[in-house]
Amino acid sequence: MGMKVERLKRRFDEMAQIGATERGGVHRLALSDLDREARDLWTHWSEEAGFKVRVDDFGNMFARLEGNFPEKKPIVLGSHLDSVPKGGKFDGTLGVLVGFEIIESLQEKAEDLSCPLEVAVFTNEEGARFPTPMLGSGAITGVFSKQHVYDMQDDDGKRFEDELKRIGYQGEEKNRLKEVEAFIELHIEQGPLLEAREKPVGVVKGIQGLSWHRVQFIGESDHAGTTPLEHRKDPLLSAVKAISRINNWIHRLEDETLVTFGKFDTLPGSINVIPSEAVFSLDIRHPDHSVLLDRVETVKHLIREVALEDDTQSLCEDLSFMPPVAFDESLIDTLRESCRANEIDYLEMFSGAGHDAMYIDRLGKTVMIFTPSQAGKSHCEEEETDWEDIEKALRVMHDNVARLALTHQPAADE
Ligand SMILES: [Zn+2]
Repeated sequence: MGMKVERLKRRFDEMAQIGATERGGVHRLALSDLDREARDLWTHWSEEAGFKVRVDDFGNMFARLEGNFPEKKPIVLGSHLDSVPKGGKFDGTLGVLVGFEIIESLQEKAEDLSCPLEVAVFTNEEGARFPTPMLGSGAITGVFSKQHVYDMQDDDGKRFEDELKRIGYQGEEKNRLKEVEAFIELHIEQGPLLEAREKPVGVVKGIQGLSWHRVQFIGESDHAGTTPLEHRKDPLLSAVKAISRINNWIHRLEDETLVTFGKFDTLPGSINVIPSEAVFSLDIRHPDHSVLLDRVETVKHLIREVALEDDTQSLCEDLSFMPPVAFDESLIDTLRESCRANEIDYLEMFSGAGHDAMYIDRLGKTVMIFTPSQAGKSHCEEEETDWEDIEKALRVMHDNVARLALTHQPAADE
């Protein structure tokens, strides 16, 4: 049906030139000169194809295939064009360009569209330059206030708004995405599961939530040479015991729970002093809201249990909580059908990383499609996805959008 993987590949290679690094990645930070170049190229393609382009007040860009029902809520595809420093060329860009290929290939069926189709490019998804990820999508969905976003600064003290103006992409508030009939984001997996299970496509059911904590054990500081073992209240030993106990419990669960202890510190931190305090960080993740809350409670219980056994004191401070996002059941179902209809094997999974879809979910039904990442690598120059897999994902997504947007179902007439 007019969809061309060669055309997609050609555009992809051209986009990958902008900010290309020596070892095959891209370095294209949000609102930099290179970001402007990428935006200019995308705008050029959109206008060349005859799409209406609009830019909102956060620099989010939308290309639109209107059809005969401009008043209807659009089906939106897309992702982001910015990268982390020395990142990969697939992250974000692939979703933007696959979306573009699909609406371009459906252009000849514009008369049969039941609603407009759009491709979205969201600003500063990576949070690499302005230090909040998914800033553009979060801003239009009310997660961040306009002033907060505009006043954000990069490491050199440059303001978001000034940089947005400088590169010429400060559009108007009225151009924001408001409601969507559906938002479908294709993205690389950024993990090893699809490759390990030899599945070309991931049907993403949601994004896991996370809970962050600061755990503190308090004991009694004392002389390392004069305090007998049975007289010690060593908070470091309690902390290690708690970490080990939590870790063992997580392994016994054999479910999707993930726990990470990323930071560890002791006070006063001297080789010949029994510490007075041991502090570590706790990152707990699970795709289900109530299960996540339950896991947090159990972890807190295990920490208190250890403090009681050791006669030390414990504190578990809550730092932040991001609830999981469950994508739309009907969209997940349609995606499964598209995979089956094209005889493409798929894995149902949750996203371990945050994506724009997480916030756009607030504007309407949302789902994501993953393509495999070789060796699970991403956010690095080695990031790679096989073009055979991309071609399969393109077919699935094309079929999916056709099912959702075309009034007459085309019988496999490719
Ligand atoms: Zn991304």
